[in-house]
This record gives sequence, C-alpha cells and structure tokens, in this order.
Amino acid sequence: MSIRENIEAVNARIAAACERAGRGRDEVKLVAVSKTKPAEAVMEAAEAGQILFGENRVQEAHVKIPQCPGSLQWHLIGHLQSNKARIAASGMFRMIHSVDSEKLLRALDEYAAVPLPVLIQVNVSGEGSKEGCAPGEARALIEAANQCRKVEVHGLMTIPPFTPDPEKARVHFSNLRKLRDQLRQETGTPLPELSMGMSNDFEIAIEEGATFVRVGSDVFGERWRME
Ligand SMILES: *Cc1c(COP(=O)(O)O)cnc(C)c1O
Repeated sequence: MSIRENIEAVNARIAAACERAGRGRDEVKLVAVSKTKPAEAVMEAAEAGQILFGENRVQEAHVKIPQCPGSLQWHLIGHLQSNKARIAASGMFRMIHSVDSEKLLRALDEYAAVPLPVLIQVNVSGEGSKEGCAPGEARALIEAANQCRKVEVHGLMTIPPFTPDPEKARVHFSNLRKLRDQLRQETGTPLPELSMGMSNDFEIAIEEGATFVRVGSDVFGERWRME
C-alpha cells in the first residue's frame, strides 16, 4: 500500500469510529507520526492532503522540518528534556503534547516568543513508561501553566502501556477523559484536547473522546528504529 492509500484507509477508519461514537468527523484530528521517516515520505503524505505531522525527537525534527513545505504543521509528541526547551519553543512546533513537569513548563515559557499550546502528558495507568506525570500531579501543572506568559494548556495526552489487545487500552483512555473532566471543574480551564490513540488502538481512543490521534506505522509503514 502507498502512503496515500494508507492515509485514505486511516481516515476512513477515523470516520467510522466517529460515526459509531456519535461524534462529528471534525472533532478528531489525525497527527501523522513521521519519526524515523524521511522528508520524502512526509511529502507523499502531504500530496495526499495530510497537513499535520508529529515528531518525537527535537533533533530529528530540526533537520526534517526545513526540508518540507512551509505550509505543513508540526507537533512534538515525544519526551522533551528541559535542556532542549529553547529549540522546541523556537517556533518549529505548533503544539507540544508531552509536557510532564513544572521545570519543563517554565523552560518553554521562558523561551517561547509567541503563544505556545501544550498538553500535559499523564501516566494514567501508573505502569509502563516513566514518562508523564502522575494523575495527582496534573492539577498543579495546569495551575502553573495558567500562570505562564506564553505557554497555554489545551488539554491532556497519554500513552497507555502496550498491549496486543487494544480493548485493554480502553479503560486508560476513559480514565484520561474523566481526569480531564475533573480538572476542568477544579481549575476552570477548558482543556478541550485529548491526545490519545496510536496505530494499534486509535479507534477505541476516538470512542472514548480523543481529539488528536497519533498514527505512525499505519500511515508510513513499519519503522526500523523502535521507540
Ligand atoms: C511513535 C509514536 C506514536 C505512533 O505510533 P504507531 O504505533 O506507529 O502509530 C504515537 N505517539 C507517540 C508519542 C509516539 O512516540
């Protein structure tokens, strides 16, 4: 299958999941995750109509983005260290999905010259990856973000522990949504965005309220470097 056919197939699956969940197709945005893939692959996706792309490493994005048309939009979806905040906040990303500490928030805010939307990454399951704040820490992060000059918190992101059975991820997606509803109440911050769901489980994430799905291998094919 070509990248164009993959994108058409993923978009059809997104539309079907929206339909099943009684949601509008425009409530869910596809982030095509191009990590490890060359600029040529991004161009192919762009020719098929894809505008929004996700990268997980600042260094790789810094090289790739200038090789791609300026009309594309880029989100940082991977773990970010505070020492890379200056470059991550320099304007190459429209949104950062992976903010999980106050230190990182403050560093991004120090360097951002224009408003910088972010999501708070939460480890809802408490298992698997050490990335993401604990659910109990999210409120303090949102309140800290609300004090920022340029950083704006738009919602939450999660990566559930990997399981071959995508149905097992459902509870984590629904927990992220419940946490968002609770934090919205407690902090008065709207938090409209929920970034959840990857190739293996994005349809379930949509059924549970995802507004961004981050899909790599189902768009670009398998990766050689795994992460
Ligand atoms: C790689 C990656 C994805 C996409 O993974 P696939 O399983 O290839 O769809 C999504 N989110 C993050 C944070 C990633 O690093």
